[in-house]
Amino acid sequence: MNRNETLDRLKSHSPAVLIIGGGINGVGTFRDLARNGVDTLLVDRADFCSGASAASSRMAHGGIRYLENGEFRLVREAVQERNRLIQNAPSLVKPLPTTIPIFKLLSGLFNAPLKFAGWLEKPGERGALVIKIGLIFYDAFTGKQPTVPRHIFDNRTRSLKKYPRLNPAICYTATYYDGLILSPERLTLELVLDAEKEGIHARALNYVSMAGVNGKKATLKDELTDKTFEIQPKLIINAAGPWIDDTNHRIGLDTHYIGPTKGSHLVLDNSELREAIGDHEFFFENKDGRIVLIFPLFDKVMIGTSDIPVEDPDSVRCTEEEVDYFIEMVGRVFPDIKVTREQIVFRFSGVRPLAHTRTKNAGQITRNHYIQEDKCGDIPVYSLIGGKWTSFRAFSEQATDRALAFLSLPRKADTKTLAIGAGANAAALKQTPNFTRDEITAMADGEKIVHLDDLLLRRTLVAYLGQLNRSLVEQMSDWLGDALGWDRNRKKDEVTRAIGILADKHQVQL
Ligand SMILES: Cc1cc2nc3c(=O)[nH]c(=O)nc-3n(C[C@H](O)[C@H](O)[C@H](O)COP(=O)(O)OP(=O)(O)OC[C@H]3O[C@@H](n4cnc5c(N)ncnc54)[C@H](O)[C@@H]3O)c2cc1C
Repeated sequence: MNRNETLDRLKSHSPAVLIIGGGINGVGTFRDLARNGVDTLLVDRADFCSGASAASSRMAHGGIRYLENGEFRLVREAVQERNRLIQNAPSLVKPLPTTIPIFKLLSGLFNAPLKFAGWLEKPGERGALVIKIGLIFYDAFTGKQPTVPRHIFDNRTRSLKKYPRLNPAICYTATYYDGLILSPERLTLELVLDAEKEGIHARALNYVSMAGVNGKKATLKDELTDKTFEIQPKLIINAAGPWIDDTNHRIGLDTHYIGPTKGSHLVLDNSELREAIGDHEFFFENKDGRIVLIFPLFDKVMIGTSDIPVEDPDSVRCTEEEVDYFIEMVGRVFPDIKVTREQIVFRFSGVRPLAHTRTKNAGQITRNHYIQEDKCGDIPVYSLIGGKWTSFRAFSEQATDRALAFLSLPRKADTKTLAIGAGANAAALKQTPNFTRDEITAMADGEKIVHLDDLLLRRTLVAYLGQLNRSLVEQMSDWLGDALGWDRNRKKDEVTRAIGILADKHQVQL
């Protein structure tokens, strides 16, 4: 069923559940409900995986630093979900060796007890002993799941032998394993397509927004035509991430659930740094305890991230101050490798949909997830608050269980071991930058592409990896346009739109 056919069907058929938001949490819930035979419609006002889910650091991780906040349940769940992702989506999630350069032995030893007592708002640098204790717990959470090896500690001599460009001031390195999500955008899309394969009862529409609720009717707007239409769902699941409160306001609910924080990343074309890190992510802390990561992304290096409270999720961009900070941080760990602004091929920023809290330090806000229930007229509304990319499946399961209970339906299947998309068959071909026309035609036919930027930013990694130039954008518009039936003007407009988005949001000038 294509987009127009789905829209047509909605004129005479109302789904039981309406999910607002095609980020990872909305899509995960969509897949779980679809698998359990529930009549469900998912809408996103933009493309799938274009909000917080596209801005993540691409780590499938337990979040070792949350142990210090005493969040053992959260870390244990995320570690288990990390393992499941590596097993269920092996073509898109790979084990990621992660190395922590350590500059002190005992520093940070009293952070955890002080935090428990409420006497420490701002974390400091952690030393070798604290990191060792954390990694012992972390390994214990992995348990017997054979997905990743246990951590190792190297002294200064061994560390410098392994990573000769590393700052000689280090005293140890610790290496443990997390997961690398090669393309969060493609993984999300695979989940959408898997869900739709369950049957006609599950349909997802991008570029359709939630406009309001009137009595039993929800009003949706087709963002491509500006036409509105109504459906009568029994249940609404608000998975609008950083826009949860905004969406609730649209439907008449005055909520203040989200305390958004911004995070940015750079993608660098720096072969020296890429060689120095090998296949390892380098994960470390600034002197004030803020986390920094240097990450191998194909032949490029990704650097992140910041954690800054913001008001408006639509206006975030990677600023020059953040760029200065990231460059300075690389210098702390690899002091003799030169990083310059000219090496930046892509920048991106996004907003974490964290729970609203009074905590002053953004890094300390819990990454836990929970569901808030409200009523809009007769319709219950579940808002999916917080969470991490890594634990989307568990969060979706929680939301699905609640929806099934409300609809008085039994759970028929779960998603714990369910392969995702290409899954077990490991078809990674689409991650390579050199596409044939046939591949683009196949994506146009089967992957819900509406705009050229959907192809450049989310169905492929060409933009992230700095592989675009103007003539390639024009050629891709031409090929995609032929497959989607665009005329010459539409192809030109799409090029202008894509180049505008690349310049505005990612500071890529073509
Ligand atoms: C900088 C950064 C780094 C991160 N790093 C990691 C990491 O390494 N590992 C990890 O596990 N997690 C990470 N996270 C957290 C993770 O990315 C988020 O928790 C997760 O992606 C949230 O997904 P979501 O579906 O709730 O929200 P989103 O992905 O934002 O989805 C919400 C969707 O709702 C849509 N929407 C909004 N309003 C409407 C409306 N009115 N009608 C229809 N649709 C609407 C939006 O277009 C959007 O697509 C990171 C987050 C950030 C920002």
